[in-house]
Amino acid sequence: MYTGGCLCGAVRFEITGPIRNIVYCHCSQCRKAQGSAFATNGIVQTADFHIIAGEGQLTGYESTPGQTKYFCKVCGSPILSKRDSVPEQVRIRLGTIESDIAERPVAHIFVGSKACWEEIGGDLPQYESYEPGR
Ligand SMILES: [Zn+2]
Ligand SMILES: [Zn+2]
Repeated sequence: MYTGGCLCGAVRFEITGPIRNIVYCHCSQCRKAQGSAFATNGIVQTADFHIIAGEGQLTGYESTPGQTKYFCKVCGSPILSKRDSVPEQVRIRLGTIESDIAERPVAHIFVGSKACWEEIGGDLPQYESYEPGR
């Protein structure tokens, strides 16, 4: 089981299943949502994601029609996003997980819109937009 939470500690969550398809997303929306060069997101089954404290502190922003990013309204930590079309999955922002996790990122995506000042290192595959199969 993995545990995590927001910066101020109001929102706490547990993940009771695997984290799949972890990617570094360099798109312009993720950059603004994180205030950084990229977001690191992984897919968790909705049934495996449990808010154990501070659910009322989470607020959402529909950044794209049908896709909402949820963050702590006190400290601003981005926690997860949900798509109306895929209710069985949530995408978790990995930086909010405190446990050591077994899974590892598999790709960089949206490198076609990365910040001009960012240099991507490492050997992971890089895709101009979504990874194949999404
Ligand atoms: Zn917080
Ligand atoms: Zn993105």
